[in-house]
Amino acid sequence: MYTFNPGPSQVYPQVRQYLLDSFDQGWLSAQHRGERFVQLMRETITELKNKLNIPQDYTIFFMSSATECWEVLVQSLTPTKSFHLYNGAFGEKWLDYAKAQRPASTGVQFGIDELPNLQNLPGLDEETDLVCITQNETSTATQLRDGAVLNIYNRLPGNALLAVDATSSMAGIQLKYIKGDIWYASVQKCFGLPAGLSVMLLSPRAIERMRKINERAHYNSLTAQYEKMLNFQTTHTPNVLGIYLLNRIIHDRPAIKVTHQHLVDRATKLYDYFDQATQLTPLITNPEARSTTVIGLKAPAPLIDEVKRRALAQGLQLGSGYGNWKPTSLRIANFPAIPDAAFEQLVQFFAREFA
Ligand SMILES: *Cc1c(COP(=O)(O)O)cnc(C)c1O
Repeated sequence: MYTFNPGPSQVYPQVRQYLLDSFDQGWLSAQHRGERFVQLMRETITELKNKLNIPQDYTIFFMSSATECWEVLVQSLTPTKSFHLYNGAFGEKWLDYAKAQRPASTGVQFGIDELPNLQNLPGLDEETDLVCITQNETSTATQLRDGAVLNIYNRLPGNALLAVDATSSMAGIQLKYIKGDIWYASVQKCFGLPAGLSVMLLSPRAIERMRKINERAHYNSLTAQYEKMLNFQTTHTPNVLGIYLLNRIIHDRPAIKVTHQHLVDRATKLYDYFDQATQLTPLITNPEARSTTVIGLKAPAPLIDEVKRRALAQGLQLGSGYGNWKPTSLRIANFPAIPDAAFEQLVQFFAREFA
């Protein structure tokens, strides 16, 4: 059985052994103030920076989910308002969380086949603390390429910081972290691990802003987390098992450029195949807007149902569409933990039954 669900997604097969090791090595009762845990944190952060090409001067935080990252960014880095550019459900949810605490926050929605246009955006002005984008919108299977992110970064108004949701792309594709102030992801997507942990990166500029704002009203205020993180510690008992699993997988994975190329090649093949050969077509028609890590396909609702049902009967679990596209689309995760053999089976399935 393979799952192509874009989160929670297929975990690496090595996770089974890591879990046994974590038990045998006593990590499940490890002291989170002890030297052994501090060493684990230090090593995990070093390895994350090396393998993912994260600038050395960025600070890494561990939280519990991407949703917690949304909340913390609103609390601790948005004294006035944020501006959100989005085309799908996750980007919109982020805006909803922002508006709940900072009602002046606004957003502009762009079409799923469009690249965002930065001219004349209502609500984006000098008062904006944070410009928020979703690098890979899991719900619509779209992606902002490096050039699009750079464009936004180069046009930030006033002192605004650029915050990037990379939940379904970090650890799958190479990201230019230097062109963003804040990046985050949870581990149940491209990291190929069980849910319950997220990774957030802050540039030196974002850290400086955090210090200036100095927000301390919440248990997970960034300022307090930062102060603990200087000593590789956390404000509360953390997800030690999650951090241990992350440590093991990041140690065993190749450099991100290797994974990146692998996923790009696989995505190209899949899009080429679905562009021509089947009753289903890619949900996103503009090749520049298509995601590398989540492939959306569309077809009439009865056909989508039929495809999902027959695939499942053959051990292939496809991801459902999301939001407005739920009945007429499906999603296929192209995450690194899913082996090539699974994609071969998938393509054979479509060739045999839906060509
Ligand atoms: C999955 C996902 C989230 C939510 O992640 P949680 O860890 O469940 O909070 C947010 N943004 C994007 C783009 C996602 O794919």
